[in-house]
Amino acid sequence: MTSTVLTLSKVTRAYGTLKALDGLDLAVPDNAYVSLLGPSGSGKTTLLRVIAGFETPDAGTVTFKGRRVETVPPHRRDIGFVFQNFALFPHLSVARNVAFGLENREVNPVTDPKVVEAKVRDMIALVGLKGLEDRGVTQISGGQRQRVALARTLVTEPSLVLLDEPLGALDANLRGRMRGELRAIRERCGVTFLHVTGSETEALAMGDTVLVLDQGRIVQADRADALYNRPNSVAVARFLNCYNLFDGSVSDAGFKGPLGTFPLGAHRAPAGGRPGYAIRYDRIDVRPEGAGVAADEVAIPGTFIADEYSGAAVNSFFSLEDGRVFEVESHLSQHEAPDCTPHGRYALVWKRDDALVFA
Ligand code: ADP
Ligand code: MG
Repeated sequence: MTSTVLTLSKVTRAYGTLKALDGLDLAVPDNAYVSLLGPSGSGKTTLLRVIAGFETPDAGTVTFKGRRVETVPPHRRDIGFVFQNFALFPHLSVARNVAFGLENREVNPVTDPKVVEAKVRDMIALVGLKGLEDRGVTQISGGQRQRVALARTLVTEPSLVLLDEPLGALDANLRGRMRGELRAIRERCGVTFLHVTGSETEALAMGDTVLVLDQGRIVQADRADALYNRPNSVAVARFLNCYNLFDGSVSDAGFKGPLGTFPLGAHRAPAGGRPGYAIRYDRIDVRPEGAGVAADEVAIPGTFIADEYSGAAVNSFFSLEDGRVFEVESHLSQHEAPDCTPHGRYALVWKRDDALVFA
């Protein structure tokens, strides 16, 4: 049984007439890595600031460890915040930055230098910065600064750590490595991390649970694999950036879209919301034009545009009859990359049961 550490109910926060949070409901499990995915402007930072106590909601409740906290000031909430730009003290060493939060916290400051030293030493080891204690924070790398920011928060032993796009300032290579590091550090200290990101790959790779924020509301909360396989709306499928999407309407005859009518398969999303048809990039077979198609398959014609290689996968782009671009992803461990000729015509084929239909 997992318990819930944080619950938000019907939380609204408006700036003038703009509702950054709009009747938002949210439950965060204890001792878990939770990622929160949302496009820019969807309210991610506002949500973290409300949870941390830097903003007061206009309406709704915030319950943390069984206690209502809407009016509790930030430093009395037992919640840590890792800022996107790290917000370190540039004139202090790694160790002094980490010690700062501990010595200066309002509740229970640690004044015994021996205790401070021991806790700081342990935390620096935990985040993998041993040997750099006396370095200035301007003399270390971006990834190391990220670890200092994390250590400075974790040393105060919060019950929840909020991370606002924590990998956004790092280059792509380092970002990949820090993903694994952050998960490992969280497991070692056993507190919940709520990690906000605009990157669907980061959200899916890191979160045990992934929450999707759209226009100030949580629109889906699921395990990463469930979310990836079964987005519950066209909007979520679009954020995941791994589905070809068609607008249209659903009837008993099938899904009627811009390229004709597709027969329906087994998977229908719950009704409500915008209708649409979604087929994952990696569920598509590219065949020569005019090749056979089985009864349980759907096929549309496409003209090959280009390939894009990215490590273990290749993404191929086709233009469809209505001019839109259609994407096919081939994992090189499973398939050979389709060997397509530029401007060549192909059949793009999928199993109708692999498609998601939103009614
Ligand atoms: P995200 O972090 O997902 O990009 P934010 O929470 O920063 O989104 O912003 C959500 C919306 O609220 C945006 O439209 C933004 O312009 C607006 N907003 C955020 N903070 C303020 C503020 N202090 N004053 C006015 N509008 C704000
Ligand atoms: Mg933000």
